[in-house]
Amino acid sequence: MKVLSYDVAVIGGGPAGLAAAQTAKENGAQRVIIVERDTALGGILQQCIHPGFGLTYFKEELTGPEYAARFEEKALAAGVDKLLDAMVLEVGKSALLCSTTEGLVRVEYKSAVLAMGCRERTRGNIRIPGTRPAGIFTAGAAQRLINRQNLMVGKQVVILGSGDIGMIMARRLTLEGAQVKAVVEIMPYLAGLTRNRVQCLDDFGIPLLLSHTVTRIVGKERVEGVYVAAVDENKRPISETEEFFPCDTLLLSVGLLPENELSKGAGVKMCPVTNGPVVNQLSRLPFRRFSPPVTSSTSTTLPTTFRWRAP
Ligand SMILES: Cc1cc2nc3c(=O)[nH]c(=O)nc-3n(C[C@H](O)[C@H](O)[C@H](O)COP(=O)(O)OP(=O)(O)OC[C@H]3O[C@@H](n4cnc5c(N)ncnc54)[C@H](O)[C@@H]3O)c2cc1C
Repeated sequence: MKVLSYDVAVIGGGPAGLAAAQTAKENGAQRVIIVERDTALGGILQQCIHPGFGLTYFKEELTGPEYAARFEEKALAAGVDKLLDAMVLEVGKSALLCSTTEGLVRVEYKSAVLAMGCRERTRGNIRIPGTRPAGIFTAGAAQRLINRQNLMVGKQVVILGSGDIGMIMARRLTLEGAQVKAVVEIMPYLAGLTRNRVQCLDDFGIPLLLSHTVTRIVGKERVEGVYVAAVDENKRPISETEEFFPCDTLLLSVGLLPENELSKGAGVKMCPVTNGPVVNQLSRLPFRRFSPPVTSSTSTTLPTTFRWRAP
């Protein structure tokens, strides 16, 4: 098995991993590598082709891929190595990964940064009753299919969840020629930004149904429609209000779950509030200092999900 040796191994090449790798370099780590399972760096932002990124950091409006590319350029210019198409299987004193080109590889490191991002909650997580036809996607899966793979997901769509991803996808689907029948939100208030409600729903005449939920999915091979009902103050559907919305696609935008598998496998303590690892800005775990030492101003800029030193 090939063995690589680094000062810092960053797992996950999204914006957090890219920034962490670059910051490690800037703070004196000699050899830094990013290991990413995708074929490109950038993480989720590769599929966020809408503008609105970079206003704070770069003082200009960029799309997600443009923003990620800027960070990639900076990290690679700083001398960070990358290993793409390589899935990390376990972390501990070293990381074991499976690379498409190299096979099984062990990466030895002095410190590891876990920056694996999140995954979306699925139908299974929220337990919507009904049949199990094709045409049910998480908003992010639909976003990836449309924006990265040029594949359309449906023609008549209902979206469950008024988070930013759901609203952005309502606009995206409309621009691609689909009819978005409604965005349905169980809470009595919007989950995402008001700006996105205005720009993604109101500007396109897409109805937002607050205090409503999808009660049932109908369809054999493909989704044929969903039942939507108002909910009471305990979020229980009010059956007399149930209404059928014919559609061929249901998008779920119902929250994110941290990618915890590697962290749990490494014995990292989990936080019951965030469901992710216990983190803080001033880790009490011993954090290896490289030369020059990490100053308080630079250490607070580390947007890492978790910093962990190999025991
Ligand atoms: C569908 C979706 C849409 C979003 N849209 C927006 C938006 O419009 N604007 C916004 O500000 N934020 C958006 N977000 C939030 C966005 O994810 C974060 O702002 C940002 O991408 C988080 O960066 P990250 O580096 O922590 O995670 P990510 O960008 O998710 O990057 C994590 C990386 O780790 C890799 N990885 C995970 N596990 C492994 C492993 N075992 N081995 C190797 N690599 C691994 C993944 O492939 C991924 O590239 C969105 C999130 C989702 C899920």
